[in-house]
Amino acid sequence: MEALNLVLFVVEAVAYFVLMVTLLHFRHRLGLGVFLTALGVMHFMETYLAAVFYVSLPFGDVSPGSSVFFSGKLMMILMLYLWEDAATVRQPIYGLFLGNLLTVGIAWVLQLHQPLQLSSNHMPDVDFLKEMGWLMIWGTALLYVDSLGIILLYEKLGDFFRRRVVLRFMISGFVLLTFDQIGFFAALHYFLDVPVAVFWGGWKAKMLSVCLYGAMFAIYEYRIRRLGADAAARSISDVFGDLTFRERYNDLLERTGRDMLTGVYDRTRMELEAPLMLREALRQGLSATVLIIDADHFKDVNDGYGHLQGDVVLKSIAARLGTTLRSSDRIFRFGGEEFVAVCPGTNHEEGLLLAERLRWTIATSVKTPDDSPVTVSIGVATADEDGTSFTTVLSAADSRLYAAKKSGRNCIVGRSGVVKLG
Ligand code: GH3
Ligand code: MG
Ligand code: MG
Repeated sequence: MEALNLVLFVVEAVAYFVLMVTLLHFRHRLGLGVFLTALGVMHFMETYLAAVFYVSLPFGDVSPGSSVFFSGKLMMILMLYLWEDAATVRQPIYGLFLGNLLTVGIAWVLQLHQPLQLSSNHMPDVDFLKEMGWLMIWGTALLYVDSLGIILLYEKLGDFFRRRVVLRFMISGFVLLTFDQIGFFAALHYFLDVPVAVFWGGWKAKMLSVCLYGAMFAIYEYRIRRLGADAAARSISDVFGDLTFRERYNDLLERTGRDMLTGVYDRTRMELEAPLMLREALRQGLSATVLIIDADHFKDVNDGYGHLQGDVVLKSIAARLGTTLRSSDRIFRFGGEEFVAVCPGTNHEEGLLLAERLRWTIATSVKTPDDSPVTVSIGVATADEDGTSFTTVLSAADSRLYAAKKSGRNCIVGRSGVVKLG
């Protein structure tokens, strides 16, 4: 008997997952309402089953309503979040919560009626309505917390292993369903004196469900969804599809404002961020240094080797700048072959040393196609000695760049003129 129950348990989990994921998969064709309505209808049944329907499994007495369907619903909510966004998943979370409260409220009102007996062998069944009590309110509140918790945990796990979606899915399920089991059992124990064995039986069944759902999620993710994505020849990479909406948003944010050619931040980003960086450094009582870096005789590079080769040289200049600066510094492409570096917490002397390191790195490692060195000139200015607004500091750096060009190029000009180092 227990073995049959176990087989049925697995069949129910597979059927639930296949049906619900099919509705979710085709949501753009069917409309999301179909999936959400099915979720709501199932919710009503599983709540009822969790209160009254228990079966014996090899590891304890469990309710399929709670272990298969409730667990499944939580995983569906997580999947909906993965493929849509917070604004969408909020709808079933709020809807299930409010709908359940309404159900309990209506059940209480209905009990005030004096129902008719329609025939001698059909008594009105009010026991069912009586089950709709505080336990359901409690279960509903737990569901609300579970849903938010599973999403938050999934997101948090992304900080540690972003690409391991199945692992994140399963850990989130294990943790939140354990939490749910503790919460729900506490109420069962307190109100209905249910023995502790039921806690363990239910917990094991929920963990088994997470394993089943995790395995099916993996099959779906790696076998079905990606095939579909390949067939549709989507331009975004497969990995992109694994990310949640928040991660995709951050990813996009990270990539916008980048210069196409060199990959460093563009001028728009500089206008937005550089003044903030300067203000923040000054607020903390630190100085901030701004460098303008301009390639020397770059027209000659273009004229001699063509624009495309010029682009390659420009890219390697940007790459050297990026690797030489510290992580708190920011590098922006200011114009054609001019870059601006903003270095918070850096005084003028340190700024000059940094500039010299950049100049030297480029002069010794960036080459034209026939191996002649490419050099840069750098103007250096520092807040607050050279001004407190970014524009003032930048224009001080710009006039020093001009001075550097006049002094023969491949050099640095700071507040006290051309810098001779080493
Ligand atoms: P100077 O030492 O005085 O700076 O001489 P320069 O030749 O570098 O003079 P200037 O700064 O006035 O000229 C910049 C040149 O950079 C002009 C333009 O053809 C080239 N340039 C600007 N943007 C790009 C780019 O995206 N790709 C390539 N290949 N060349 C660019
Ligand atoms: Mg130049
Ligand atoms: Mg220039």
